[in-house]
Amino acid sequence: MDLFSLKDRVALVTGGNGGIGLGMAEGLARAGARVVLSGRDKAKAESALASLRARGTDANFIEADVTHENACRALVASAAEKFGRLDILVNNAGINIRKRPEDLSASEWHAVIDTNLSAALFCAQAAYLEMKRQGGGKIINIGSMMSLFAAPYAAAYGASKGGIVQLSRSLATAWAADKIQVNAILPGWIDTNLTRTAREQVEGLHERVLARTPAGRWGEPGDFAGIAVFLASAASDFVTGAAIPVDGGYSIAS
Ligand code: NDP
Repeated sequence: MDLFSLKDRVALVTGGNGGIGLGMAEGLARAGARVVLSGRDKAKAESALASLRARGTDANFIEADVTHENACRALVASAAEKFGRLDILVNNAGINIRKRPEDLSASEWHAVIDTNLSAALFCAQAAYLEMKRQGGGKIINIGSMMSLFAAPYAAAYGASKGGIVQLSRSLATAWAADKIQVNAILPGWIDTNLTRTAREQVEGLHERVLARTPAGRWGEPGDFAGIAVFLASAASDFVTGAAIPVDGGYSIAS
């Protein structure tokens, strides 16, 4: 058996229409999975689908705003329906609103928590039903360096990403007996739309990241292909509740 093969597996990647989500979706596709991408931006999805299909991958897009609980449940149900099963759920959709805590409005707080944390629970709950019925599955949640560290402009984002680690651990303990593994990936600083705006808003960020990252570079979405395949495949069947930094060494540098 090829430990890393995802042949005949079906994966749903929220926010898979660009950035890190697409980097993971491409990895899963290369390992043989059929892939359902989700997000709000259809134009981005068209180009993501075209690149996956050009490689011969069976891929689909479902438009969904994961800030709505019902949309999360409907998304998972229609992803499972598209290809007849669901083996892998990647909770990747995320936003950040960079403001000092004293300036955060209630609606900004809720937007970040709903997108980054609550959606992961609602999608996982819906996926659990499918995975349990099938005899197992893999759930991958996307945290951040802000799961570990803090910043004055990241109260909501840090709370959501710290929460992702504890949510992953809770689900892992609850569902291990059902052969469902739940793990978190903690990206370092990766060049995507999200951090392009951060570099505009936070002076000196680009240089500080380069100076602290032992690998000496910003990460790319393609850096997440391998970890996604590992956590989605039989190779990680005894790995659950872990939070794995993929950060070029950022989190272990002084
Ligand atoms: P992007 O902005 O490129 O990707 C974010 C994705 O989330 C988009 O595809 C977007 O889709 C989707 N999304 C956002 N809000 C919603 C919503 N309400 N409903 C559905 N989809 C939504 O950034 P990244 O690729 O960098 O981010 C991916 C994940 O990685 C996030 O969870 C982020 O917090 C995390 N991360 C990123 C880091 C980095 O350095 N880049 C570092 C640490 C963590 P659409 O545009 O269609 O709305």
